Amino acid sequence: PAMTSPSTSAPEVVTRFAPSPTGFLHIGGARTALFNYLYAKGRNGKFLVRVEDTDRERSTEAAVKAIFDGLSWLGLFADEEPVFQFSRADRHREVANILLETGHAYRDFLSAEETGALRDAAKAEGRTFESPWRERTPTVDDLAKPHTVRFRRPADAPVVVEDAVQGPVRWDSASLDDLVILRSDGAPTYNLAVVVDDHDMGVTHVIRGDDHLNNAARQSLIYDALGWTRPTFAHIPLIHGPDGAKLSKRHGAQAVHEYAEMGYLPEAMRNYLTRLGWAHGDDELFSDAQAIEWFDLSGIGRAPARLDFDKLAHVNAHWIRLADDDRLAKLTLDVHLARGHALGPDDEARLMRAMPFVKDRAKTTLELADQTAFVLKSRPIPIEGKACETLAGDSGERIGRLRDRLALFESWDVFALEAELKAFAEEEGVGFGKIGPAARAALTGGSASPDIARTLSALGREESLGRLNDALQQTI
Ligand code: GLU
Repeated sequence: PAMTSPSTSAPEVVTRFAPSPTGFLHIGGARTALFNYLYAKGRNGKFLVRVEDTDRERSTEAAVKAIFDGLSWLGLFADEEPVFQFSRADRHREVANILLETGHAYRDFLSAEETGALRDAAKAEGRTFESPWRERTPTVDDLAKPHTVRFRRPADAPVVVEDAVQGPVRWDSASLDDLVILRSDGAPTYNLAVVVDDHDMGVTHVIRGDDHLNNAARQSLIYDALGWTRPTFAHIPLIHGPDGAKLSKRHGAQAVHEYAEMGYLPEAMRNYLTRLGWAHGDDELFSDAQAIEWFDLSGIGRAPARLDFDKLAHVNAHWIRLADDDRLAKLTLDVHLARGHALGPDDEARLMRAMPFVKDRAKTTLELADQTAFVLKSRPIPIEGKACETLAGDSGERIGRLRDRLALFESWDVFALEAELKAFAEEEGVGFGKIGPAARAALTGGSASPDIARTLSALGREESLGRLNDALQQTI
């Protein structure tokens, strides 16, 4: 008979992002999601999302939506339907019962007041609180009374978590009290729910903020009691603000959607966030494919990473340069519309024509909007006082001759325009410095714009000639 050899392949890697829907997706959460995503994708594994909505008071629909909006903006899609933790409460209670049956949990009939008093007394004596019900067997009468269910921590064995980032971390089990796993109303508590869900979802790697390190100790004990294999834990240092202090409201820019509003591209955010607390040599700019290939837990640093907006701007500028013009034109149009611009039929085409001339110089899509505002103006465009002065006298007359010359010029290609402008300057016997300011004043009203050949090219022939005519009528 054929022998089936035992499988030696490692189990499929499964990671998850487990946000609590109590607010927007913040930048730390986004990075956690990204690390989990990259780790799974680089190993042919699965990336899952679990919404930890067990806190019914604080969880909201709006927050669930904000989190999914943030994740999809970042392009971090889960490989399966998201799990909502609250919907699994029956399963959590079932596992609590297994723990009761195996003696790893007990029923605690202390009232909240009694618990508080005993806890205070224990604290005063420097002991860990312990309910007397840990050692008592309830009678049938007791069982009818309201009670919580507590996990029974193993007596006096140290708990060690082999953390992939922090190294081995030890706790005295005496320092961890017996955790409530079911409240008196039967509601499962957080640490029980997380263990049951991670186990049932087949999660192999738990990558999350190091504010959860203590939970890892408690969760490990629950895994052990159930005879379940612990996942690999990787607790990453939280993100700090540019000043080195913990990220707080004071720093602003905490929510992912704020970064979108500040004009950052999602691929730039992914690139920047991947580098925030993780390194692959000196590589700063890399693609998603490279991030997926390179990302590992050993590259995660133990020191908190600091937000650095200059670096982010640099990364963003890189991805703007590489982005398609039509995509940038749409994003830039959105910025103009948000700034109150009234949509015109030709806007997108004009922005498309301008994009190649501005995308090398913009760090954000807001800057793309600043630098393209000139193309969206509608005729006759207002000309600022200072710009108006450049059109006075001689130089205004010269703009008239330029208009006449361009009116005969058909090829509106930027290189042809450059040559034509050069020929015009030569014919006039002046340097381009005598033409540029007046031409810009007439063509843009004094707004920022690229050089004149590019400005003409971005505006298109008809619009350029129209603006030159308008300016000559206004000023001469
Ligand atoms: N829901 C927890 C949080 O939002 C995360 C728990 C976990 O990743 O295990 O902080």
